[in-house]
Amino acid sequence: MKKEHYYPPPSSASTTSGWTAGRRRFADWLPWKLFQDQMNPDKANHGWFIGRYARECLHILPKLPATLKWPVAPTSVLEWHQVDESLREPGIYYGYRPEVSSWTECCHSLFTANNETLNFWTHFFPTVFFIWRTVQLADQWNIKSDGLSSDYAQPFLIYMFSAILYPLMSAIAHGFSALSHRARAVLFFMDYAAINFYAYGSGLLYRAYVLPDSWMQMDANIYLGMCVFLSLASTTLTCTSRAIVRDVVAQRLMRLAAFTLPYIWVSIPLFVRLFDCFRYVEASSSCPTADALRATKLHLCQVIVALLASFCYASHLPERILPGKFDYVGHSHNLLHICGVTATLFQMEGALIDMDVRRSHLIENQLAMMDPFWDQWIPLVVLLGHVLLVAVFGLYIYWNEPQTIPTCNQNKKCH
Ligand SMILES: [Zn+2]
Repeated sequence: MKKEHYYPPPSSASTTSGWTAGRRRFADWLPWKLFQDQMNPDKANHGWFIGRYARECLHILPKLPATLKWPVAPTSVLEWHQVDESLREPGIYYGYRPEVSSWTECCHSLFTANNETLNFWTHFFPTVFFIWRTVQLADQWNIKSDGLSSDYAQPFLIYMFSAILYPLMSAIAHGFSALSHRARAVLFFMDYAAINFYAYGSGLLYRAYVLPDSWMQMDANIYLGMCVFLSLASTTLTCTSRAIVRDVVAQRLMRLAAFTLPYIWVSIPLFVRLFDCFRYVEASSSCPTADALRATKLHLCQVIVALLASFCYASHLPERILPGKFDYVGHSHNLLHICGVTATLFQMEGALIDMDVRRSHLIENQLAMMDPFWDQWIPLVVLLGHVLLVAVFGLYIYWNEPQTIPTCNQNKKCH
């Protein structure tokens, strides 16, 4: 049910006429301005849910400790020197879970303070939200009198599936990685596979609705074919980094490369669009209308936040400069999750605007994706490819790794 009182009344500045080229001021670029716009459902046709989501989180958060009884009781947490070297994170001193825990202990640990608690929740809530958003959009398209055709919406739904899958797999991996040494490896293989499947989903989304016309005219096989290759190659690389490589620095570099390369390939045409749009003051071919400009700004925000996510992952800031201060809350992996999900929100909202306003243009000029091969069969093949890779590396772990690494002995005090 729509709650009218929940939102401030629309101001006179909220009409679409305000979105003209003359208003391309610095203030319009600020994320805060964007956030304010999203808070108003009458102004932001597609993006108001970001504001609503943030507002509902703010509403829920103060009640969370009482609701979840967090922390319930001091749970078994260890100091850095009590866990195996492979489990240590730079700058994190305290709050490690024991390597071997039962299912119930893992579930309990989600509601008690340790350094995985927020890693779980920062991806669990977005998973629920993305599911709700997908259902809401599918419902909207069904009831719209001039509804989008299912063929036109298909790439977006595949993308949403990938956007649901990656935080879900990540939440499961962070929540239950303490089951055993082998379980930890396999769960993170699934996490990596889901992230790389999301890279293919993003490529599909861009090809279907976002790319500049000049890139739309090019053969989709090259762009999407490379997306498929990089998606599977990156999962192979990340799984190798965890299953075979022992050097921690090499592992980090391999994972960084594996996540960065698909992102760069998928985003190259988007960078062209951003460059084309923002280098001219007047309307350009990439920003012919106010809506196109607004969508491009959302894509720009996505790029900025994604860069911030990579920076958090690579730098281990802030815990590296203030070790021991961010053991539970605010460490770089928490920030990585928050930035990653925020980037997905910007990407989704920008694509929704493109999808709506470019529809007739893309269909009339035969630029819309007409080949069902790429948005029906290939996603299935890519998904199965990832499942196969996880199975192969999982078997490798099963045959080559012990079930546990001893982390507590007489010389190491366990809490
Ligand atoms: Zn994570």
